[in-house]
Parts: sequence; C-alpha cells; structure tokens
Amino acid sequence: MSKNTDTVNILGVNFIKSDKNSLMQVLTSRIDSENKTFLVTANPEIVMHAIEKEEYFTILENADFIVPDGIGIIKAAAILNNPLPERIAGYDLMVDLLQVANHKCLKIYLLGAEENVLSRAIDQIRSRFPNINIVGHQNGYFDWESNSISEQISKVKPDLIFVALGVPKQEKWIYENIHKFDKGLFMGVGGSFDVLAGNVKRAPLVWQKMNLEWLYRLIKQPWRWKRMMAIPRFVTKVISQKNRG
Ligand code: UDP
Repeated sequence: MSKNTDTVNILGVNFIKSDKNSLMQVLTSRIDSENKTFLVTANPEIVMHAIEKEEYFTILENADFIVPDGIGIIKAAAILNNPLPERIAGYDLMVDLLQVANHKCLKIYLLGAEENVLSRAIDQIRSRFPNINIVGHQNGYFDWESNSISEQISKVKPDLIFVALGVPKQEKWIYENIHKFDKGLFMGVGGSFDVLAGNVKRAPLVWQKMNLEWLYRLIKQPWRWKRMMAIPRFVTKVISQKNRG
C-alpha cells in the first residue's frame, strides 16, 4: 500500500479510506506523473480468499491501493469502529478512469474476457470515449508461460491496463508482470468487460442504492452461491478481530 495512505485493516487487508472522487484525484495525479500503480478492488470473498491462500495475501500486500468493492467490507469497517466512507464499485472506477483517459487522450490496453466480449467492449469504448487510444488488447485465454503480452505492453507503453481475468488470476498476472513495465495503472476489473459489452447487466440503480447489488448478481448468476459461502466465515472473523481490540 502507498505510503501516507490512510487505510482500514480488515483481517489483515488494508483498504483505502477514501471516497471515489478523492481516490480519482489521487489516481489521476499518479497517471500524470507516470507513477506505476497496482489497484485491487476487493469484497469479503476476496478477503477470505487472501486469508486462505498465502500466495494471494502476498499479492494484496504488494498492491498500492485496495478499494472496498462490497457492502460487506463497509459493514465490517463499521463493526471495527473505523468506518470507510463508501463502497467503490470496480466497474464505476473503471468508467471514471476511462473518462479521464478520454479527457487526456491517454493510451489503454485491455487484457481478458472471451474474444467476442472483448471486441464488443472495445467497440463500446471507441464510441463512448473517442479520444482514447486503444494501443493493444488480448483475450483472457492465452498461454500463461508466454511473455508476448508483457513484451507488447512494454513496447506500446499504455497509461492504463485493465485486466479482466477474474479473481485471483487478474491480480496474479499483474503481480507477476508489473515489474517489467516503466509506467501504467494496472487494475483487475473482473467481469467489467462483460458489462461494457452488454453481456452482463449491472443491478438497477435502486438495487445498488439499497446495497443489494450482490443479491441481484446472485439471482442472475446463481453459480456464485458457492463463493458467497465465505461470507458467514468473514463475519465471524471480523467479530473476533473486533473482540481482540
Ligand atoms: N476470464 C478470462 N480468462 C480466464 C478466466 C476468466 O478472461 O482464464 C474472464 C471471463 O471471461 C470474464 C472475467 O474473466 O470475462 C471474469 O468475470 P467474473 O465476473 O467471474 O469476475 P470476478 O467475479 O472473479 O471478479
């Protein structure tokens, strides 16, 4: 985590204590000064994954910013008497970054998702953010051992690199490769290309405002229930962190 950043520790994972607008100011100035950045958006399932998989925990320790993308994280911070200002959805943050990129005519690289999803996401970006220069893209079904993606990124030097490989692959890819580059903001964006492509719909705004986006997602993608089994364990662990003081 960046030095001088105010954070809230939830089960060993340090979340940035900032609202979306202030975070965007910090990120924009890091982009302007070509300060390399590793950004993770995390929910309770991800925190539990980090607790259970040491390798993933180490990856999160190397992130510059961990953003609370889940109402469960906001509730946990409140239980620990160290409240976080708001949930920052990964998709919203990506769209804000695309707006900045459009405004500043930046270069972006897209890594991940199925080929048809990726190409529809690219079409959307081209029509909604015409000043963005998409300097490269690669679908998410590639040979992990090959270095051709990182070689390509090194050559084209994008300002923003969105990695949509799902958790934990996307953070693993960033962690293993970020040292090869001179600059760039690297962010794991999960299923955000699917949303951009119109393949997956986000919850209606009322659901989002009622903090029920997770429920909407569960109804639309019921296979996610297995992952959500981690949530009761998360709550138990947060309560014992509180009791330990
Ligand atoms: N994906 C990919 N390569 C893989 C596995 C997944 O590109 O090896 C893509 C998948 O096509 C989808 C995204 O990663 O577009 C995962 O979306 P999901 O909503 O499951 O993300 P998560 O909830 O894990 O953040």
